Amino acid sequence: MPKDFFIYNTLSKHIDKLVTIKPGRVGIYACGPTVYDYAHIGHLRTYVNNDVLRRTLEWLGYNVYQVMNITDVGHLVTDADSGDDKVEKKARKEGLTAWQIAEKYTHHFWSSLDAVNIKRPNKVAKATDHIKEMIGLVKELEDNGYTYTIENDGIYFDTSKLKDYGKLATIDLKQLKAGARVEMVAGKRQPTDFALWKFSPKDKKRQMEWDSPWGVGFPGWHIECSAMSMKYLGPTFDIHTGGVDHINVHHTNEIAQSESATGQPFAHYWIHFEHVLVEGQKMSKSKGNFYRLEDIVSKGYHPLALRYLFLTSHYRQTLDFSWQSLAAAAKAYRHLIEELVLFYYLATGQAKLDVKLKDEAVGYFSHDLKMPEAISFLWRIVKSEKLAPEVKLGTVFDLDEVLGLKLEAQIKQALAVPKEIQQLAQKRWLLKKEGKYDRADSLRLKVKARGYIIKDQNANYLVFKKLD
Ligand code: AMP
Ligand code: ZN
Repeated sequence: MPKDFFIYNTLSKHIDKLVTIKPGRVGIYACGPTVYDYAHIGHLRTYVNNDVLRRTLEWLGYNVYQVMNITDVGHLVTDADSGDDKVEKKARKEGLTAWQIAEKYTHHFWSSLDAVNIKRPNKVAKATDHIKEMIGLVKELEDNGYTYTIENDGIYFDTSKLKDYGKLATIDLKQLKAGARVEMVAGKRQPTDFALWKFSPKDKKRQMEWDSPWGVGFPGWHIECSAMSMKYLGPTFDIHTGGVDHINVHHTNEIAQSESATGQPFAHYWIHFEHVLVEGQKMSKSKGNFYRLEDIVSKGYHPLALRYLFLTSHYRQTLDFSWQSLAAAAKAYRHLIEELVLFYYLATGQAKLDVKLKDEAVGYFSHDLKMPEAISFLWRIVKSEKLAPEVKLGTVFDLDEVLGLKLEAQIKQALAVPKEIQQLAQKRWLLKKEGKYDRADSLRLKVKARGYIIKDQNANYLVFKKLD
């Protein structure tokens, strides 16, 4: 039996105990990226948080099936069902096809996620591979009487037909309507109504378009996620995740259309991740205030130092990114590995998990993913004067199944010292024992210049590679 898990549910506005549809199994749908530009570190934080959620559930004993979409069509430059398709617009700008743009940025997305050790989803669903399912869902909504047509524009969802429209939202219906009224498409019956299927424009040839019972066009962004999540997880599934920016429009509309089509509840738990900010403003592609993983690496930081930084803040708190905070996280991460290298050496590679300590760690993760508390706990273990090195290692490695900091691999890499460096270190040790300190010191510096550190223990020494 998996252990209990509690999480803040945007739908209930409470911390709820997770009760899954099938015992021991969890289905998760994570809103994926729109692939029209490079992934920035704001996206990476959201996907690291998704990853921590998934790893926690696995660590607690659940069998997790995580689905993530790739939005390669239908996400317009505004939330108001007007304006260009982000992918098509970028294609014109870069002189590539829309398909090439999607492929290019999807590739970049995955390579960024891999670098920060995010597990790949069990199922990746590309919007353009699921047009048939989206058309099917719009047809069901039409049959159930929820749609209307705006001539030369598209098929729309009539939100006035629902009593509980906006139940997920963090603002009330009046504010939702007021927000949606900005740039409202002519012909909408309600400001909150939204496009299910858009007709291709008459004056411009789209690259991505499909036949449908209503005419040639393309799907709305919201219907994509409803169609793909329900295809792979069923009409009702356990958890739906995304950034907080999706609560009031995208996810609100996903719920409206999914529940109107099936007559059943959509997702039971809604988990939303807070944003990365830069000087108080959301990091975003449109504001141009973003950093990519490449910027982090080119300044000499390890990608996992960024992951460490993300782990030091709770997922429901914003994270104000600064180079100083990244530098502090990188220092802590390097220090952590150096400490663990020493325990690894002292424990001669043995690792022993302490079940009581694990229980304490479970307490942090299973109650609303208290990541900063888990990081403090990790340091208490590392710094403890009571625990044996093998217990420290065993407990920390177990915790790292959730943290994903690749601690064991980093230690092994640090201890893979080339023969010539080992020989230099050995020579220096002998000189030191003979009291020839000047010569011993100059050898230590030589080893250091090559990127290796020597740490003396009582009757021996340890040499390892400095984390790069
Ligand atoms: P998008 O490609 O814009 O749809 O974004 C993909 C995911 O990243 C969504 O879940 C967004 O909420 C999330 N996201 C976008 N910007 C940020 C940010 N600055 N910080 C954290 N998450 C973000
Ligand atoms: Zn989505």
